[in-house]
Amino acid sequence: MRDETTDTHCPYCALQCGMKLRAAPDSADGAERTVEVVERTEFPVNRGALCGKGRTAPAVLSSRVRLTGPLVRSHATGRLEEATWEEALRTIADKLGRSRAEHGPDAVGVFGGGGLTNEKAYTLGKFARVALGTSQIDYNGRFCMSSAAAAHTRAFGLDRGLPFPLEDIPRTGCVILVGSNLAETMPPALRYLTELKENGGRLIVVDPRRTRTAEQADLHLAPRPGTDLALALGLLHIVVAEGRTDDAFIGERTAGWPEARAAAMAHWPELVERITGVGVPQLREAARMFCDAPTGMVLTARGPEQQSKGTDTVGAWINLCLATGRAGRPLSGYGCLTGQGNGQGGREHGQKADQLPGYRKLDDPAARAHVAEVWGVPPESLPGPGRSAYELLDALGRDVKSLLLMGSNPVVSAPRAAHVEERLRSLDFLAVADVVLSETAALADVVLPVTQWAEETGTMTNLEGRVLLRRRALTPPAGVRSDLEVLHALAALLGHEKGFPTDAEEVFDELRRASAGGPADYSGITYRRIAEEDGVFWPCPDGAGDAPHPGTPRLFLDRFATPDGLARFVPVTHRPAAEEPDAEYPVLLTTGRVVAQYQSGAQTRRVDELTAAAPGPFVELHPQMAERLGVAEGDPVAVVSRRGRAEGPARVTNGIRPDTVFMPFHWPGAGRVNTVTNPALDPTSRMPEFKVCAVRVEVAGRG
Ligand code: SF4
Repeated sequence: MRDETTDTHCPYCALQCGMKLRAAPDSADGAERTVEVVERTEFPVNRGALCGKGRTAPAVLSSRVRLTGPLVRSHATGRLEEATWEEALRTIADKLGRSRAEHGPDAVGVFGGGGLTNEKAYTLGKFARVALGTSQIDYNGRFCMSSAAAAHTRAFGLDRGLPFPLEDIPRTGCVILVGSNLAETMPPALRYLTELKENGGRLIVVDPRRTRTAEQADLHLAPRPGTDLALALGLLHIVVAEGRTDDAFIGERTAGWPEARAAAMAHWPELVERITGVGVPQLREAARMFCDAPTGMVLTARGPEQQSKGTDTVGAWINLCLATGRAGRPLSGYGCLTGQGNGQGGREHGQKADQLPGYRKLDDPAARAHVAEVWGVPPESLPGPGRSAYELLDALGRDVKSLLLMGSNPVVSAPRAAHVEERLRSLDFLAVADVVLSETAALADVVLPVTQWAEETGTMTNLEGRVLLRRRALTPPAGVRSDLEVLHALAALLGHEKGFPTDAEEVFDELRRASAGGPADYSGITYRRIAEEDGVFWPCPDGAGDAPHPGTPRLFLDRFATPDGLARFVPVTHRPAAEEPDAEYPVLLTTGRVVAQYQSGAQTRRVDELTAAAPGPFVELHPQMAERLGVAEGDPVAVVSRRGRAEGPARVTNGIRPDTVFMPFHWPGAGRVNTVTNPALDPTSRMPEFKVCAVRVEVAGRG
């Protein structure tokens, strides 16, 4: 066993907890293929704390079910069978090339993931637009925080999930946490809220469920799912009516207040109580608690964001921040708690349908010219914007004939999942690169086994905008290749011998140039700096000749990133969910996560300790609903929508609204709740409405 350890980061969520890995020789051939996790107390984000997912992450590296050789579907048997890398890559290049030749470049789709490193996300976007010439690329991060990103950009001119570091949270006066269950999704981050309260700060949690996070709150507001927008407007109405707005801040640092004010004044508290189910006294208490504190923050997560009005919902909370002067000032502001490991970096480097590296807009001629020059191609050769994630999945087998998918498992994680599964099956050709045979990989014509987090080097950008270095700590098994090697080989087979390096640092150096001068400027960040400083916050322009730019932990303190430096109020009004309860489907369904599983569970469901802790889905429902149905704890229950059904044992609790049921989404099969969820899209962000739809609840087997 080597005695040295490697500093790196967890493979899962956007907190990107620091950890050390200690490698040990594999007994078979002496190669280092197993590691143990050692605490890294000096990394400021988690100070050594890890949740069970991070602690057990090495189990997937040595799992018996990980893929260690390519698979190609046999014409003779219809089954996936072992193949050589040459055969697998050649098949992919031929099939993608044939779709392109027969139906045009947009007949080839590319689907990425919010867990891919910055280098992979960047290369995947370049591969789609240069090697394939397709506009049809998007990624599963569209399902994560796209509404917050759109609202952030609209109001502040720039989207970085948190415009301040996590360390500021305990020092603010009041936090309103909207639709986030940190205790389950990012347990080490809960300490920021604990410290807030220890420092005398107040915590308001907005969630239809009394979660473990809500139990920490000074005030818990439990609105009806899909009504967070009205709730924010109601609070703003009270703030205005009670003369608690910060008029000096509004006058000096914002634009658009009269229209936003008028929209809020149309949402008087009694109306908001009827819409949300939150009583007027609680609304007043929340507004006063927020305004009485000298500083304050609003933090949102998937609850308000995964709605067909997610952008406006986040916009309403931003309006509340702006009206009270709680933005662009120390220890105050609005932030989004991004979920996926590289949900932040994944959206900055060009795997989104409408964006180029550096968070540049694909339809901006100057942005196209800059990136095209870095890529060595004519600007006019770059395709225009493509379809958003759900729209791309919905087009499979129709306009889009072949798909290359990396780092995503939409069979479990996409809304209206049975339909998405059917679309994937209807493709002429599907290639998937993954570490295990996920439910999506199992449908593929070719499956490529790729290296995992501890077997490769690359950068990640956490929810604070802190760019981090994940370092290779051990030797990958023979038979797997990195995603960068895969894209390099496929590009070469498609006629692009150059331009797709396999070395992550070389890719990062190109990414820096591509991002230079853009909203997410990484040009001053190097691997060396990240290693020396344990992370660098973007934007960080290259101060060539001068002292290096220090990075930007806190944004907007002097001006917002709009052309005139002013933040924008946007007038927003309440509207119902795309699907409201009716006689046939009288109950609201909301979905979410449990602490022992991550996203579609492709990795965490293969870890014994995590599976033992969270073996399957469940249906959380109120005792009144349980009594009405005649079910007791553990009885099988089915949740049925217009799109399908999902089943799980009943979990009866007073901690949920009587009109709502909850299911976690990490599992396939009969308990796959995304069979039920609604793909109605937000018109701005194209975010599907995962968080609310109308269902019927019945005893399973009786329906
Ligand atoms: Fe990993 Fe997130 Fe858990 Fe930290 S909180 S150990 S980053 S899954």
